Amino acid sequence: MLINLWSISCVSPMLAMTRTMSLTCLKQWHVTSTSFSAKSFCSAPQSATGLRVCVVGSGPAGFYTTDRLFKAYGQHISVDLLDRLPTPFGLVRSGVAPDHPDTKNVINQFMEVASDHRCNFLGNVTVGKDVALSTLQQLYHAVVLAYGAEGNKQLQIPGQKLAGVLSAREFVWWYNGHPEYANLPLDLSKIQSVAICGLGNVAVDCARILLQLPERLASTDIAEHALQQLKSSSVKEVHLIGRRGPVQAAFTPKELREMLSMAGVSIHIAPEMMKVTPVDEAEMKATRMKRRVYDILSKAAQKPADRKVLIQQARQLHLHFLRSPRAVKDSGSGHVAGLELETNALQTSSDQTSQTAVGTGQMQSVAAQLVLESIGYKSHPIEGAPFDDKHGIIPNK
Ligand SMILES: Cc1cc2nc3c(=O)[nH]c(=O)nc-3n(C[C@H](O)[C@H](O)[C@H](O)COP(=O)(O)OP(=O)(O)OC[C@H]3O[C@@H](n4cnc5c(N)ncnc54)[C@H](O)[C@@H]3O)c2cc1C
Repeated sequence: MLINLWSISCVSPMLAMTRTMSLTCLKQWHVTSTSFSAKSFCSAPQSATGLRVCVVGSGPAGFYTTDRLFKAYGQHISVDLLDRLPTPFGLVRSGVAPDHPDTKNVINQFMEVASDHRCNFLGNVTVGKDVALSTLQQLYHAVVLAYGAEGNKQLQIPGQKLAGVLSAREFVWWYNGHPEYANLPLDLSKIQSVAICGLGNVAVDCARILLQLPERLASTDIAEHALQQLKSSSVKEVHLIGRRGPVQAAFTPKELREMLSMAGVSIHIAPEMMKVTPVDEAEMKATRMKRRVYDILSKAAQKPADRKVLIQQARQLHLHFLRSPRAVKDSGSGHVAGLELETNALQTSSDQTSQTAVGTGQMQSVAAQLVLESIGYKSHPIEGAPFDDKHGIIPNK
């Protein structure tokens, strides 16, 4: 039942850069210096009996799938879990913020699956590059594609390609020690203001890491290169920007409260941005979480200004609702200098159930030497698998 005959190429610098993990549990992780080849794959099914399944991607989706397969098929199954990285756990390792260790505890559950004799983890294997999907389909009874959403939705505005415009995911991968982003060209000592486009929890994570006192991050498993940069950071202002209103923000209450209560950070929300429409009221009535998020934001917006003034040299967090980025400003040397924002109004749909942001023509600027796009993610296609380009997903049929 054990499949130990596979050989895969091992890129040692990548291994060296990844953060600590217990390799002992991954007892079947077979790494040699031999080049990976299709022949190596062919040996696997001959050694196994029962149902042979290949799961592509070892993030939460890959591990939960494997666990469910074990429960459903008992001893009559073996699963090969493939990942393009040398280490498992996907975004639990490289996405979840380092100051949220409790969220990462799910790794213990995944370790149990990984150490099961029916599971075989193979890192450093990129499906679509090192091995074709069609080859896997010949070798296994079933192939499950669980390779996440590693592409980003982009703003699609002039100046988007300027230096200093990054996806929030790249920034997150940088501070979490993802092997491909350790050398991200970033110098926080030269950055005073950061604009983050998007009002979800990834944007919240980025804002919190940028404004947090570095000593509070020192005891976490943040990447050392990121901690050193944060210690010499000049960032004083972070601007969170969303095209719709506070009721449509995608934050969850816990993460929002944590961000708004950071020591030494003053919160700036213009009260006029907190006005609600009848459709907003209906949305909040229908979804309790929206009401809670709105209440937390309202409370923060109403905090007396003099308290903010009292905080000496405070770092500032500005929340901008109903604003759409229309252009990235050039510093003159090909680097980002800020964002041009258009004020929006919410337009109610004809059936009175939803609202879209519509530009009013009124413009304002926000200075920023770093812009992070955090407006959603999409998957990359893999040759041989159906793909929905519009939504960036593999359609489930
Ligand atoms: C920046 C960020 C922060 C987040 N923080 C939190 C949080 O704090 N709490 C929370 O609950 N959720 C969080 N999430 C959401 C959560 O991480 C995701 O919902 C979850 O990880 C998705 O699981 P997945 O297995 O589908 O994808 P992933 O976790 O992305 O795993 C996909 C795996 O597939 C591998 N892979 C990709 N392409 C290939 C290929 N061609 N061949 C082989 N392997 C491949 C990748 O290396 C990766 O290991 C965050 C998401 C992001 C983007």
